[in-house]
Amino acid sequence: MSSEKTNFNTKTIHGGQDNIDPAYGSVMPPIYQTSTYSQTTPGGHKGFEYSRSANPTRTALEKSLASIENGNFGLAFGSGLAAIDAVIKLLKPGDEVVSTNDLYGGTYRLFTKVFEDFGIKFHFIGMENAADIENYVNDNTKLIWVETPTNPMMNIIDIELVASVAKKHDILLAVDNTFATPYLQQPIDLGADIVMHSATKYLGGHSDVVMGALVVKDKDLADRLYFIQNASGAVCGPMDSFLVLRGIKTLHVRMQRHCENGKAIAEYLAKHPKIEKVYWPGFESHPNHNIAKRQMNDFGGMISFVTKGNDYDEAIRIVENLKIFTLAESLGGVESLAGHPASMTHASIPKEEREKTGVVDSLIRLSVGIEDVNDLIDDLKQAIG
Ligand SMILES: *Cc1c(COP(=O)(O)O)cnc(C)c1O
Repeated sequence: MSSEKTNFNTKTIHGGQDNIDPAYGSVMPPIYQTSTYSQTTPGGHKGFEYSRSANPTRTALEKSLASIENGNFGLAFGSGLAAIDAVIKLLKPGDEVVSTNDLYGGTYRLFTKVFEDFGIKFHFIGMENAADIENYVNDNTKLIWVETPTNPMMNIIDIELVASVAKKHDILLAVDNTFATPYLQQPIDLGADIVMHSATKYLGGHSDVVMGALVVKDKDLADRLYFIQNASGAVCGPMDSFLVLRGIKTLHVRMQRHCENGKAIAEYLAKHPKIEKVYWPGFESHPNHNIAKRQMNDFGGMISFVTKGNDYDEAIRIVENLKIFTLAESLGGVESLAGHPASMTHASIPKEEREKTGVVDSLIRLSVGIEDVNDLIDDLKQAIG
């Protein structure tokens, strides 16, 4: 059976996985823990010659990634940042990138501390309307980089709107879909050229692997990215490929519970007398709620909040007192995590810069897991006091 015409919940399990093991019919692809492949005559191989170029377990994952994101080609990398690195290597000195301003800290660091030195210019802007974006577009603009929902402020960027600007000026549009996952939003269907993932997060889903991914529809673009993937070599290993492939098979059921728990916790926090503000796109009062409703299937399990008085020490006390939520970087695993962006994920962004986008001293970010939601609420109750 071809799985490509099926619905999302079937694609997570079967997408791109036809005839996965012609040798023995194993249901999961074997972990091909090998660097090289025997040849009968020079060039006489069965499609695999060296595992940087391709490995069957990674190929199985890459086909799954393409399927769930409604693209034609998937590429897996050693980390999310390695995937972003490959995208920026499509560019040349003098090229310009227009990027969302509320960005994952590591992405911001890669853009400003590595690629600016190679002569690529980045503009970090709000993308509320098309005119704002067009202000920064010129003949050198080659890429628009979008992260939505943004991290950690949960702003929602209208992908279709940005895609219309990108199309008009013939610029590539890349969307970091790490927070939403294809369960919630499918950027290629909304006009994006490249979808990027830190598969470390929801796709892997179990906090046991670091990996990145790209998905594209266009063959030429896929070829250029594959050339960079192979030439630069930031690939992931077969064991990690297997783990993320396994994670994807439960993505839809995990995401459903992440969303349910996220909603309950956002509503609990919004009523808490010590909480000043809760950032979650499911609230009607969220400034981008209507875009979220249109472009996402649900609102996800990522929530940020600020305490009254915006006290740094108070925020530290809360995250230290949590017992079921683990104080840790990262997100998207089955277990609930809490983070303090100002001192953790966003510490590499200057205080002045981060406060402009709302990352204030008392901001706490939750990655709501799939535990019993009452236990999670009780934990927040005792920690906040
Ligand atoms: C974690 C993350 C990244 C970086 O991915 P790594 O796998 O840690 O390299 C990029 N974007 C977002 C939104 C992330 O959360």
